[in-house]
Amino acid sequence: MNTEHDTNYQYRERVVEPRPEKELRFRNGRIPGYFSIFLGGLSLAAVLAYLFPSYLTTTDLRAAYDAEALQDVLKYGMWFSLFFGITTFVLDRRKRLGAAGIAMTLIAFALGGYNVPVGPVEPKPLSLGVDWLILAFLGSTIVFTSLEKLFPKYREQVILRDEWGLDFLYFCLNHLLISAVLLFGNFLVTHFEWVASDSLQAAIQSTPLWLQVVMLILVADFVLYWEHRVFHEVRRLWPFHAVHHSVETMDWLAGSRAHVVQIFIERGLVMLALYLLGASKEALDIYVTFAALQAIIIHSNLNVSWGPLKYLLVTPQFHHWHHSSEKPAIDTNYSAHTVLFDRLFGTYHFPKAHWPAEYGTTQKLPGSYLGQLFYPFRRR
Ligand SMILES: [Zn+2]
Ligand SMILES: [Zn+2]
Repeated sequence: MNTEHDTNYQYRERVVEPRPEKELRFRNGRIPGYFSIFLGGLSLAAVLAYLFPSYLTTTDLRAAYDAEALQDVLKYGMWFSLFFGITTFVLDRRKRLGAAGIAMTLIAFALGGYNVPVGPVEPKPLSLGVDWLILAFLGSTIVFTSLEKLFPKYREQVILRDEWGLDFLYFCLNHLLISAVLLFGNFLVTHFEWVASDSLQAAIQSTPLWLQVVMLILVADFVLYWEHRVFHEVRRLWPFHAVHHSVETMDWLAGSRAHVVQIFIERGLVMLALYLLGASKEALDIYVTFAALQAIIIHSNLNVSWGPLKYLLVTPQFHHWHHSSEKPAIDTNYSAHTVLFDRLFGTYHFPKAHWPAEYGTTQKLPGSYLGQLFYPFRRR
């Protein structure tokens, strides 16, 4: 089926009930409470990363930031965590959150705080990407929460919606595993080096940067399209991917939910394909940034007019339809970057006047991380 919309289907509006009891407000203590615990947790993680950089930071990422300059940011984070934590006691609301934030910050101070000396780091092949997690979480929360508040699709949808904690856990684990994923990708690459063609790679590197980026996007999109489609259409693989589809509320954090097996396969295949293409490092950096931002944006509770871009690129509305449990949308919109391959292979479903009314899987999955981790194995 390759349709703009299904003429036999009665599209409905999604209903999002207001949930004042879950709103983040200053007066109800939720804003200072969560700010305190958020900054306290990140500060403690950052101090640990400064103390044990070879185990808790990522070699490639370390080259991209100034660890000493970031200690200034850490300093503000720690003092603000204490400030917000104390505020919960002044307000006499959400004191538990405030106390937890203060406790984590005090431990961070006791471990050396923002004065841990920064020196050369002995690189380890496998480490936990705590630095990647902190920077990505801080950046994403600020940027995407603001965007979702400014241009929401569903204004009534709260930040602390159902299962946000589960998706936050996925976000953390996915980022911590970055060096293991890279190691797996490199392992695949070393086994397929014989396929690589020096003359093809040289020819590609001699083309303009923008063209290299376009080629990277199209090659990755082709690989991701078929990987994604196979996960949907091969019965034994679907339970792994069903985890990603079990989210029933879409926002920037929801896209983090994915089974670890699928993450390794997906990233590994893309790394291999892009390596074989052999574009320049500059083009790869642009592609990786584009892909990472797009992956978050397309899950967001975001309603902006993309203009003619929506005929070209995967946008939130397009990918939200992929997450819909409504009949005409099942097994459609597999593409990750452009809508090209869905158009080409007959899986395009994009009724532009409508958004889905329901998200999720038709069969309910377990609601815990471990339940979802073992779900594909139990079903066998
Ligand atoms: Zn899917
Ligand atoms: Zn998705």
